[in-house]
Amino acid sequence: MSDIQIGSKVVKFGGSSLADAGQFRKVRAIIESDPQRRYVVPSAPGKRHSADIKITDLLYTCQKLASAGKDFSEPLEMIRSRYLEIAKELGLGFDPTDELDRIAQRLREGATRDFAASRGEYLNGMMLADYLGFPFIDAADVICFNESGTLLMTETMMLLRERLAETKNAVIPGFYGAGPNGEIITFSRGGSDITGSLVARAVRAEIYENWTDVSGVLVADPRIVKDAAVINTITYEELRELSYMGATVLHEDAIFPVRAAGIPINIRNTNQPSDPGTLIVAGDSADSDAQTGYTITGIAGKKGFCAINIQKAMMNAELGFCRRVLSVLEDMGISFEHMPSGIDTMSIILAEDAIKGREKTVLSRIRKAVEPDVCEIEHGISLLAVVGRGMRRTRGTAARIFAALAHARINVKMIDQGSSELNIIIGLLDGDFEEAVRRIYDMFVNSALITKETETD
Ligand code: ASP
Repeated sequence: MSDIQIGSKVVKFGGSSLADAGQFRKVRAIIESDPQRRYVVPSAPGKRHSADIKITDLLYTCQKLASAGKDFSEPLEMIRSRYLEIAKELGLGFDPTDELDRIAQRLREGATRDFAASRGEYLNGMMLADYLGFPFIDAADVICFNESGTLLMTETMMLLRERLAETKNAVIPGFYGAGPNGEIITFSRGGSDITGSLVARAVRAEIYENWTDVSGVLVADPRIVKDAAVINTITYEELRELSYMGATVLHEDAIFPVRAAGIPINIRNTNQPSDPGTLIVAGDSADSDAQTGYTITGIAGKKGFCAINIQKAMMNAELGFCRRVLSVLEDMGISFEHMPSGIDTMSIILAEDAIKGREKTVLSRIRKAVEPDVCEIEHGISLLAVVGRGMRRTRGTAARIFAALAHARINVKMIDQGSSELNIIIGLLDGDFEEAVRRIYDMFVNSALITKETETD
């Protein structure tokens, strides 16, 4: 590692943080307030308001029209004027017209979706580099994929390290890199988070700051719980559980590169830069760290599951019963989420999407495989996960969760506590989902606040 990289911070700014000139100013103020914030990874300009269109989406539209041989001058002009407007307001000489002409030409010649989408970050990176006075590094020169689009970690680390060792500061656009023949390849949507994580790992950053438009990861979905509290420290494992169950803060694949290097991630709010945000750390450092203050860390969940319920007298004594049922699913390429079982019953919970249109075949194959007394499918199930490293140490967490649900007269269809004691997963009817989230939130967060207030009174 070069000396200039020691103690450096990598800062990634999302699309809403760079949606207009006002947001660019905030970003510059954040970067200038800490000289350690050396390496900057921007997204493309995002939405300025809810009805707005992201630059990335406009670029996808251009490519779609171009590939159908249609005129795409309208979305292209919208893109040009967004960049020009920002550049003008910031007093920059940056003009995307020539670049956009070249991009339009490539689109007419059949350029790919990935190429089109990547240009949002590319142009924004150039403009931001100009505004900050930092060198611009094209991600195509430092982020490598193989021909099937899988990231090549070793090569990427080598190139990033080599290139960044020479420079004290840099802007590296997010979301894309290049394949073996120099063709542009993007990550999946939201992938600038991954670029940030890779850059952080390459320079062995002290911290990877991911700047967005919320003050961190929230304990519950704010569309269900108004003014949901912010989680101050969360472990990578907990975040993975919450993301899997529907919480969207960070691209899932952004965790791995920094996690392997033990670099914490800090989710921060560009619009409230003094808020500490959420710190994402390794499990062992979290235990000695400041606790959330609540036994649980977060609640997340999803609708859209179904259960295959199977009953057979003396099921428990029948060797290979489970295996035969599961091999039906495996043969049909269907993966499942959970499998709660009783002595003579088993249920398989799976996503509706995974089985849609194939219900009858699945049931008849299971009937043939194990000759059950009952084999039926139940629709409209939600899964809710209560996640928290604190549960391992605290007794009575499950009792509190189920008391909250019982008071609300909510019927629990399934309970599953993972062996790590990091989460409890509950199956409910879709209609009970939102209320269940609110009741559990009340039980752990609101009542904890009341207790704290009474203690300090
Ligand atoms: N601009 C890309 C998207 O809209 C990537 C990103 O913002 O992370 O998905």
